Amino acid sequence: MNILLLGSGGREHALAWKLASSTLTDRLFCAPGNAGIAQEAECVALDITDHAAVIAFCKANTIDFVVVGPEGPLVAGVVDDLEAAGLKTFGPTKSAARLEGSKGFTKDLCRANAIPTAAYERFTSAEPAKAYVRRQGMPIVIKADGLAAGKGVVIPEGMPEAEAAIDMMFGGGLGQAGAEVVIEEFLVGEEASFFALCDGETAIPLASAQDHKRVGEGDTGPNTGGMGAYSPAPVMTPEMTARTMNEIVVPTLRAMKAMGAPFKGVLFAGLMITKEGPKLIEYNVRFGDPETQVLMLRLMSDFLPALIASRDGQLKSFDLRWYPDAALTVVMAAKGYPGDYERGSAIEGLEEAAQVQGVEIFHAGTKAVGGRITANGGRVLNVSAQGKSVSEAQTRAYQAIDRIRWPKGFCRRDIGWQAVKRETSAG
Ligand code: AMP
Repeated sequence: MNILLLGSGGREHALAWKLASSTLTDRLFCAPGNAGIAQEAECVALDITDHAAVIAFCKANTIDFVVVGPEGPLVAGVVDDLEAAGLKTFGPTKSAARLEGSKGFTKDLCRANAIPTAAYERFTSAEPAKAYVRRQGMPIVIKADGLAAGKGVVIPEGMPEAEAAIDMMFGGGLGQAGAEVVIEEFLVGEEASFFALCDGETAIPLASAQDHKRVGEGDTGPNTGGMGAYSPAPVMTPEMTARTMNEIVVPTLRAMKAMGAPFKGVLFAGLMITKEGPKLIEYNVRFGDPETQVLMLRLMSDFLPALIASRDGQLKSFDLRWYPDAALTVVMAAKGYPGDYERGSAIEGLEEAAQVQGVEIFHAGTKAVGGRITANGGRVLNVSAQGKSVSEAQTRAYQAIDRIRWPKGFCRRDIGWQAVKRETSAG
């Protein structure tokens, strides 16, 4: 089969690495890709927001199956357009992608189906929103309804910050994404990411993961797209996984099907594991980044048949095998990220680093310039490793990082600290 993967980050490099090893794959293309993906796939300079151009490429290159990485094209309806042109595509339609594209849509779906989530209200103007925050008091969470590239959630310290966030959102600070606002209860517990592969009716759980969103060690400082992740997440015990499937994922699939928008693709539930059990923080309708990097390292089975079964509605009798080993990934970012950063600095030592046992280096934002790898984004590399435990995976990832020579880059040195602490105290 000829496969086209859409996207250019570390998530897509991990998917490309896995798809390239499939027995079904003849040619693997990636648009637009990056310097690391180019080692696994033929990169094509396509504008993936231009659906007609994607369709023309697929026809010209006899593409049999398309896999969509990022949420932007999904919410914009790339799956609808490709399928209408006769191209088999993995991922949700535009109406199913509302689970990520509109927080208000998802909250209403939870309320109507008794899916555990934070109590909330939806607002379309500032004054009622402020009045609600005043009545509820702190702590509280203010969210823009639409896609805001990780900038749409504010947990204010006090009323002035809450009012400023509400004014910013309704004032157009996040564009159309802030035209509606959801205000919700602050949940207390431990967060986990949970992934399920869905075919419109059936969901099969993938693995769980935990990520580190804050830029600084000890989980401090501004939020980022994610500075590292590990799998499995210790809080996701078999009981918690069963409850998440029964109380959250399965009722969501049932409700989506009932409203004529069956969900196919990967459903990524951001969870808070509270005293009462798992509660949904939010849905994403695609693979997590950097969680996918650790999931792909742990996956034993050929993944492509599973993605095809998801698209074809054939997951019912499907089974995926996982290695019992843990995996961990550390993000190396350009200095200054998540604020302003430079592009173009040279990165050396990648080959030596990749020789550390169990290590796989995925590129998140790189470009090859005259035979050298250079930084071409905020998050640049995902240094990933397998190990018998999270501690062993962590040791290997940092051994590899210590072989990378990139003075303009940085990483957190404590990725996985909660799991390592648990493992150490368990003896
Ligand atoms: P989201 O983009 O909805 O995943 O939110 C980003 C982050 O904000 C989450 O990973 C949580 O750390 C935090 N957050 C979002 N909603 C809540 C909530 N209701 N209670 C506590 N923390 C939250």
